[in-house]
Order: sequence, then structure tokens, then C-alpha cells
Amino acid sequence: MSVSRVFVANRGEIAVRVIKACQSLGIETVAAVSEADRESLAAKMANRSICIGPPRSIDSYLKTATLVAAAQAGGCDALHPGYGFLSERAELAQACADNNITFIGPSADNITQMGDKLQARQIAASSGVPTVPGSDHAKTPHEAALLAEKVGYPILLKASAGGGGRGIKLVSNPAEIETTFKTAAAEARAAFGNDTLYMERYVGNARHIEVQVLGDHFGNVIHLGERDCSLQRRHQKIIEEAPAYALTPEVRARICSAAATLARSIGYRNAGTIEFIYDNDTEEFFFLEMNTRIQVEHPVTEMITGVDLVAQQLLIAGGQPLPFKQSDVQSNGHAIECRINAESPQHAFRPCPGRITEWQAPSGDGVRVDSHCYSGYFVPPYYDSLLAKLIVHGMDRAEAAHKTKQALSAFRVAGIDTGIPFLEAVINDADYRIGNVNTRWLEKKLEEYSSGQNV
Ligand code: ADP
Ligand code: ADP
Ligand code: MG
Repeated sequence: MSVSRVFVANRGEIAVRVIKACQSLGIETVAAVSEADRESLAAKMANRSICIGPPRSIDSYLKTATLVAAAQAGGCDALHPGYGFLSERAELAQACADNNITFIGPSADNITQMGDKLQARQIAASSGVPTVPGSDHAKTPHEAALLAEKVGYPILLKASAGGGGRGIKLVSNPAEIETTFKTAAAEARAAFGNDTLYMERYVGNARHIEVQVLGDHFGNVIHLGERDCSLQRRHQKIIEEAPAYALTPEVRARICSAAATLARSIGYRNAGTIEFIYDNDTEEFFFLEMNTRIQVEHPVTEMITGVDLVAQQLLIAGGQPLPFKQSDVQSNGHAIECRINAESPQHAFRPCPGRITEWQAPSGDGVRVDSHCYSGYFVPPYYDSLLAKLIVHGMDRAEAAHKTKQALSAFRVAGIDTGIPFLEAVINDADYRIGNVNTRWLEKKLEEYSSGQNV
């Protein structure tokens, strides 16, 4: 079952990250590229690349049959889906299995179980993991109104098939529920082809805490500690850290063991993340969802544990048992990741594709930059705007924040705008430095920042 040539079915920084992990293990790679990505760093680094179609992802990175056919044409025995795109589609995992290609991720069954957020909630509850007080499937606006009354306002209406921060709507009072329900159902139908909605109590003073897990083919499941991803814009993470500094050791132990229990209960294999919402006021935590793939923010866990998570994904998929036990996993210091997007902070953060004329990433002790960019690279307009992740490790949170500040100011990008100036404002913020934040904090900071830009 061992893996010797991997088809990299993604683009951008994660394609580069996967290729590097393969190289470190002596595994060959074939990069899938759309017509817009022929010159990409992944294409240059891989042993070869195969064009999988026109620029728009719907015509290339989202075409299961094309990807599987290209993997076969390239003589690959395994496929890495990265994150986003088809990474959480059971259909791709199944198509790989049907064609004798090792899918570097969980089984199609695990993806199906956890891909539906409502079903995942039920599985979590039956494994004894606390879920956010809320409802089952709300089928009609009227039923939603009755259920919301029971849950108690404010509530979030969530699309069972949602993801990436989309498909979540806040309803503050009974007057809004029926209209918001109709809009949410219509949007979910259009975006995800599924209009199943459920609700959760809205936790107003919350942190997003998630736990990294790894499972192998032999029933071993361990966790690699937790991350705090509370700094979000439109429910999407911008800055992530490990460990989750706000938790007491007792809560940390409980949340990590709840995650491992849940993963074990479904016989989970490969890398996955279990997301929780943590109530700052009551110190309770509740299951949100499971991401059955590698996550954007996995490097902060790598920096503090020293475990190469993508290499582990490849080894597990190749049939190797986990090389360490739970008690072998140690955490050292603190790590912070900033997502650097092609966007214009002075113009309401609108995406800013185009030619990069200068690209000088910072380096130094404990500084890591995961990116696919270089001087002269053209950022195509068709995809996610993530250019780079700056990951910084320090002895403790204060040192990591200080080094992040220095690294951000040393980052030189010309030709396009990036979110770096805003990230610097966040890192220098006094409340950020003392960790006095919640999931709403970044939006407030953003308003403050944008109004400052306009004067
Ligand atoms: P979440 O925060 O939803 O758990 P992550 O932050 O780990 O998920 O990232 C998944 C998101 O990354 C996807 O929903 C998508 O918006 C975005 N994405 C998908 N593919 C890529 C890519 N190749 N490069 C950058 N971002 C991507
Ligand atoms: P997605 O699938 O889009 O990643 P999640 O369910 O993981 O959706 O939620 C994304 C973010 O939305 C969370 O990180 C958190 O900031 C916010 N959120 C989700 N559920 C709740 C809740 N019940 N109360 C407060 N905030 C929530
Ligand atoms: Mg999520």
C-alpha cells in the first residue's frame, strides 16, 4: 500500500506544502494545474505537471473525473486533495478507492458522516461530546420560529452543508426569524445544493478552539493539542495560534480528550480537526464541526509539537502505524500564524490579484513562510486570495507576538496590495497582546482600522 507517486489535486501554498513533504520522504509528485497555473511554483517544483482544464475551478480543480483520470495518466498511486476544493467530498475519496488510487485522507464514509454538519452534531452528541444547545433540522419558517423560541435568542441558523464561513446567519429576535430562514434556505440551496438548516444558540463571548487529531489504519488515534482561531473576519480565520492560551490546563485536557474520543468513535483515519466554540464566560465548550482534511492553520501545531503533519498524512495513507503515542507528543513554546491575502486594506479589503513585482519574505530563527509566491508571479483572479502564511514560533506568546511584528514589517511585497498593514495593526494592539479577544474582536478592530484609513 506504500505511496510512491502523489497527484497533488490542489493549488497555491498547500500544493507547494504537499510537494515539500513528498520530497522529504522521497516520494515523486505530479501537480494538477489549471491553464492559469501553468507557471505556478508547484508546477516548477513537482516532477511533472498535468493541465486539468481552464482557469475557473469549476472547470478544473472541482472536476472529480478529470482529476482521477489525470492521476492515472501521470502514473500516480496516491492523491492529496489539500484543503478547500474537493478535499471534503466523499465522491473524490470514493473515486480514488474505485480506481486503486490511495486517497490521502479519511475514508469516504468518514467524510460523509462528518461532512453533513447536522449529522456530525448528532454523532458528537452520541459520543458524549457536548454540542451547542440548538435544534435538529428546521423544515419550515414556522417550525424554525417555534424551535428558536425554545433555543432562546440570539441564534445562528446554519446550513448543514455549509463551510468556509458561508451558510451561517445570526437571528437576533423573533421578528427576523421567518424572513432570515427563507433567505438562508435559498442561499444554501444555491451555494451547496442542499437547503437543510438547523440552529445553535449564539455564543456571544466566544473563542474558536480546535483540536488536531491523527488516526492510523490500526485504530490508533491521538491528538496533537489545540489551536485558538478566534480572530476571524466573516467567520473566516485570519490569525491562529497554538496552544490555546486562554484555557485552563483542566479545560485543555478535557477538550483534547473529547476530540480524540469522537475521532476514535468513528474509526477516523488520517489528519482531521475537531472544532469547538468555547464560552469565555462559563468556560464551557461545545462541538461545532469536524474538518476531515489538513487545515490551513496546521503549521502552528507543527511548530510547537515538531510533528510534520503532512508527512504523517502520507505515511498513514501508505499504511504505516503512527510512530508515536499520545504520551510522546510534547508541546514547546507558542506559535502564531498570520494569513496574508491579496487584498486591499485601504479599499474595504477587496481582492487584489495581479503581478507581484517584488516578493521578499522574512526569515530567521522560528520564522516560517508557507507560500507559492515569488517576484514576477502573477496572482490569478480566479481563486482564493491567500498568498502566504507567516508562522512564527517563540518561547512564549509574548515572544511569538514580538517576532511576528518584526517579521511582518520585514515582509516586502510590491505590485499588489496585501493585508499586511492590517495584520501589523492587529499584532500591535494592546488587547491582542494581552489576549483579551473573542470571535467578534477582529471585526471591531477592522471597523476601527477602516475608519482610520478614511480620514
Ligand atoms: P475552515 O476555517 O473552514 O475550517 P480552513 O480555514 O482550514 O477552513 O480553509 C478552508 C478554506 O480555504 C476553504 O473553505 C476555501 O475558502 C479556502 N481554500 C480552498 N482552496 C484553497 C487554496 N488552494 N488556497 C487557498 N485557500 C483555499
Ligand atoms: P464553517 O463550516 O463555515 O467553518 P463553523 O460552524 O465551523 O462553520 O463556524 C465558523 C465560525 O462561526 C466559528 O469559528 C465561530 O466564530 C462562529 N460560530 C459558529 N457557531 C457559533 C455559535 N454557536 N456561537 C457563536 N459563534 C459561532
Ligand atoms: Mg469551521
